Amino acid sequence: MKSYETDVVVVAAGLSGLAASISAAENGARVITVEKSNTTGGAANMGMGPLGVGSRIQRMQMVSLTPGEAFRKHMYFTHYRVDARIVRDYYFKSGETIDWLEEMGVEFVGVQRAFGAPEDTRAYSDGEFTWHVVRPEDGGIPGPRAATAMTKKMTERAKELGVEFMFETPAKKILMEDGKAAGVIAVDKDGEEVEIKANSVIIATGGFGENPEMIKEQTGYEFGKTIFNFAVPGMRGDGLKMCWEVGAGREQPTMELMYQLPDNMNHFILDGAFRQPCLWVNRNGQRFMPEDQIGNTTFTGNAISVQPGKVAYAIFDSKLLKKYKKRGPDLVSHVHPHDLFDHFDEQWNRDIADGYEPVTQADTLEELAEKAGIDVEGFMAQIEEYNDMCEAGFDEIFEKDRHYMQAIEKPPFYCCRQNVGAYGTLGGVRINNKMQVLNEDSKVIPSLYCVGTDACNIFGDSYPFILSGNTMGFCINSGRIAGENAAAELDDFEW
Ligand SMILES: Cc1cc2nc3c(=O)[nH]c(=O)nc-3n(C[C@H](O)[C@H](O)[C@H](O)COP(=O)(O)OP(=O)(O)OC[C@H]3O[C@@H](n4cnc5c(N)ncnc54)[C@H](O)[C@@H]3O)c2cc1C
Repeated sequence: MKSYETDVVVVAAGLSGLAASISAAENGARVITVEKSNTTGGAANMGMGPLGVGSRIQRMQMVSLTPGEAFRKHMYFTHYRVDARIVRDYYFKSGETIDWLEEMGVEFVGVQRAFGAPEDTRAYSDGEFTWHVVRPEDGGIPGPRAATAMTKKMTERAKELGVEFMFETPAKKILMEDGKAAGVIAVDKDGEEVEIKANSVIIATGGFGENPEMIKEQTGYEFGKTIFNFAVPGMRGDGLKMCWEVGAGREQPTMELMYQLPDNMNHFILDGAFRQPCLWVNRNGQRFMPEDQIGNTTFTGNAISVQPGKVAYAIFDSKLLKKYKKRGPDLVSHVHPHDLFDHFDEQWNRDIADGYEPVTQADTLEELAEKAGIDVEGFMAQIEEYNDMCEAGFDEIFEKDRHYMQAIEKPPFYCCRQNVGAYGTLGGVRINNKMQVLNEDSKVIPSLYCVGTDACNIFGDSYPFILSGNTMGFCINSGRIAGENAAAELDDFEW
C-alpha cells in the first residue's frame, strides 16, 4: 500500500472540493485532493454559475439585496425548518466569495435571476438577482456548461497553491484514530490501496444522483420511471456512506426537484420550447396549476410530483406555435437557447420520426389525448372549459395571467409529456456552521468536515429558486468555510 501524509485531505475535486482545497491551501495547509474521475469540476461543469449576495458585480449592477435580506427570505421560504446559523454564515460569506473567484480570474457576464413572476404572485415566486453567470470560455452567450470556465480557473489556482491532485483515485473509507478523523483510504487507477494520513478530512463527493438504488431507498423515486434526474457519472453516494459509517448523523436527503424531459440534453430545444404558459394537464386531462408559474421549475416539479403517475402534458396548437415562431416564446428561459423556435420544426420532426416517446402530434384533440395517454373524456371536458375561459378572457379556476389565455383550437396539436426531474440529490450528512460533521447526538466528530451537496440540508423540501445559483453557492461557500477551519486546526496540531 502506498502511504502519504498531509495536513488536509479533500475527498473529491468537484466544485465544493475545489473550493475547500484552495481555501485550506491559501490558509497555509498542505493539501492532497483525491478524485474518482480523471478531471476536476464534477456536476458544476454542466451548470452556469453560483449565488452571491453583496458582491462587487451586484454593486456595479445596482442590486441592493443584502445578505441579511437573503437570509430572511431563505428562512421564510424554508419555514425555519433548517439550520439558521449555517444559512446565515453562508449568505454573509457569499458576496465576498464571488469577489474571491474574480480575483482568481473567473469572469462573470453579470448577475441574473432565474425568472420573473407576475405581480400578484411575487412574494414567494419572484427571483432575486443572485445568480452570477460565468462568462463561457469562448466568450459567447452563456448556456449550460458555462461554469466550466470557473472550475478550470479554480483548478489552476489550486495547482498554483501546491494542492496535489490524485485522479482516478476514489476514496473508500475515512480513517479514525481515538474518535478523530485521521485520513482516508483510497484506491488508485491500478487498483492499489493508497493511505493518506492527514490532520483533517473534508468530504465533498456530490451526492448520489447516479445511484438509482440509493435514490429509491432514500427518496422513494424510481429513476427512469417516476424521476428523470441528471445522473452525473460518479455521484454514487460515497461521501454519505463513508460519513455515516464513522457515525455521522443522518439528515433526510432530498432530490433537487425540477421538471425535464427524459434524456433532455439530447432534446434540449423541445425541453425549452414547451416551458410555456400554454395548456398543461395531468393524466386525467385536468389542469393542475396556473400555467403562468411554469417558469418556476421547482414549483412545477413539485406540482407534477403530486399528479397521478407523476407526469404532466404541455399542449399547444398550431396558432400558438405560429405566434411563438413569430414573436418568440411567452416565457424566456435563461438556460435554453434564445432562438428556440427557429429550431423547433427540425427537432420536432426528428423526434417524431425517431419515435421519441414523450412527444405526440395529432390533427384532432381526441386523437392527441389518446396517443399521449391522457384520459380522453376528461381532456375534452377540460378543453371545453379552458377554451370558453379563453374566450371570456378570464381563468375562473386558477386566475392564470390573462395574457396567456390562448385557446387550443387549430390543428395540428402538439403535446409533450413532462416528468419530474432533478439536478441531483441534496444533503444527508449532519453538519454545523463550520461544516464540521456532527454525530447522531449533534456532537462534533473532530477533524471531519462535509461540504457541497453531500451536506446541503438547508433547502428544506424545495430548492429556493427565488435565490438562484443556490446549489453552487452553497457548494463553494461551504467548501471555503471548511477549508479555512481545517487549516486553522493546524495551529494546535503536532505530528
Ligand atoms: C445540468 C446542471 C446544471 C446546473 N446548473 C447550476 C447552476 O447554474 N447554478 C447552481 O447553483 N447549480 C447548478 N447545478 C448544480 C451544481 O452544479 C451542483 O450542485 C454542484 O456542482 C455540486 O457540487 P459538489 O461539489 O457537491 O459536487 P460535484 O461538483 O458534482 O463534484 C463531486 C465530485 O466527487 C467526485 N467523487 C464522487 N465519489 C468520489 C470518491 N469516492 N472519491 C473521490 N471523488 C469522488 C466526482 O467524480 C465529482 O468530481 C447544476 C447541475 C446540473 C446537473
